[in-house]
Amino acid sequence: MPNTSAAAVSNLGALDAAHHLHPFSDMKKLNAAGTRIIERGEGCYIFDNHGKRYLDGFAGLWCVNIGYGRREIAEAVMRQMNELPYYNTFFGTTTPPAVLLAQKITSHAGPNINRVFFTGSGSEANDTWFRMARVYWGAMGKPTKKAIIARRNGYHGSTVAGASLGGMKWMHEQGDLPIAGVHHIDQPYWYGEGGELSRDEFGLKMARQLEEKIDELGEDNVAAFVAEPIQGAGGVIVPPDSYWPEIARICKARNILLVADEVICGFGRTGHWFGHQHFGVEPDLAPIAKGLSSGYLPIGGVMVSDRVGNVLVEEVGDFNHGFTYSGHPVCAAAALENLRIIEDEKLVERVHDDIGPYLATGLKSLEDLPIVGEVQQVGLMAAVQLAEDKATRKRFEDKETAGVTVRNHCLANGLVLRATADRMLFSPPLVITHAEVDEMIDITRKGLEHAWSVLG
Ligand code: PLP
Repeated sequence: MPNTSAAAVSNLGALDAAHHLHPFSDMKKLNAAGTRIIERGEGCYIFDNHGKRYLDGFAGLWCVNIGYGRREIAEAVMRQMNELPYYNTFFGTTTPPAVLLAQKITSHAGPNINRVFFTGSGSEANDTWFRMARVYWGAMGKPTKKAIIARRNGYHGSTVAGASLGGMKWMHEQGDLPIAGVHHIDQPYWYGEGGELSRDEFGLKMARQLEEKIDELGEDNVAAFVAEPIQGAGGVIVPPDSYWPEIARICKARNILLVADEVICGFGRTGHWFGHQHFGVEPDLAPIAKGLSSGYLPIGGVMVSDRVGNVLVEEVGDFNHGFTYSGHPVCAAAALENLRIIEDEKLVERVHDDIGPYLATGLKSLEDLPIVGEVQQVGLMAAVQLAEDKATRKRFEDKETAGVTVRNHCLANGLVLRATADRMLFSPPLVITHAEVDEMIDITRKGLEHAWSVLG
């Protein structure tokens, strides 16, 4: 066991600053401020090395769907570790957990999705479908269909393909991205960019940018369109109702693959097994990760529809792609146990019928505050949009400061939330109780009132 006694921990901050480079962090500032050291988790709470308790309104990083400290997972992992800690799925072999997990995942997808390709993460999942889509079109006798259309402010991971597909300018600036063949259209962010249009008019306008981009590139050159059903890292941007049906119509009419990035939206977060089911669309490919194992061990994958899967199996021959840890038996065992818990505890139904609506009511109660422009929520995925003048949808000049002011106040009062610019993001574990939702709303209200007193 690592020594996590207070004495040992007192040194961890210095060791972290000296040796550990963190993702998406300004290391000079972080080292000066010091990292928070999280030691323990139980249910919806995490505890730092000073014993301070935080309600985790963000489920780790959108992933701890079943909450912390579930011994069933630890035991399933231990059993599999003892039985077979590793074997690959490359050279004509497989392992029981990998097979059973692929079957279990597809049992919750639509009837057209019957296969899974395993990866180690959501980024690898995006790299995987990227290659798969091009291989598919090659096998279909249309090798020029290579371009991928994605969205500005979308997020699809940090690998070269993932970061290229994502529409974050500040990521593209580091490392000459996007790579050739990736194109972006605008996001359906009505509050910030909808102007005078109604939500539905704006949703249609944004969806039709896809058609315009296909025309610009030439239908014979476009392989796929990718989007998160609800844009997560970009700010929990729930598109207008008109958006997804129009996107699906265009993909079908123009014969391009529809890819739904389910890395956040999957496994109950939206009150459905997958986010695309909430919007009633059927993707051809769907990257998954996070809630697949509730983050207990790293595992991801791509759900593959019969349209693509049958061609891969019948026509392609070798698909020259894979990872040492594709279908890792211990990660798969953790994921299988996680999915058993989600099924047995009816967590998807719970989000849809009980705790999702309860969160909606709580968030709605915040709309009386002058700083709250709007609330957007589906299941247990939600955003509070900050506003300087809610009557005119005027946003704060310094959006980052507005969000960080709320976030830091909440953190000091024991609630972890995320701020993407001037949107406060919520994504708690699916097991959160009514009392914990009340606590989350209460601390958030205080954070919002504080920010208004400083910035309003
Ligand atoms: N896709 C989406 C929608 C995500 O939100 C993320 C991570 O947040 C990824 C892909 C990348 O997943 P990972 O960090 O596991 O590589």
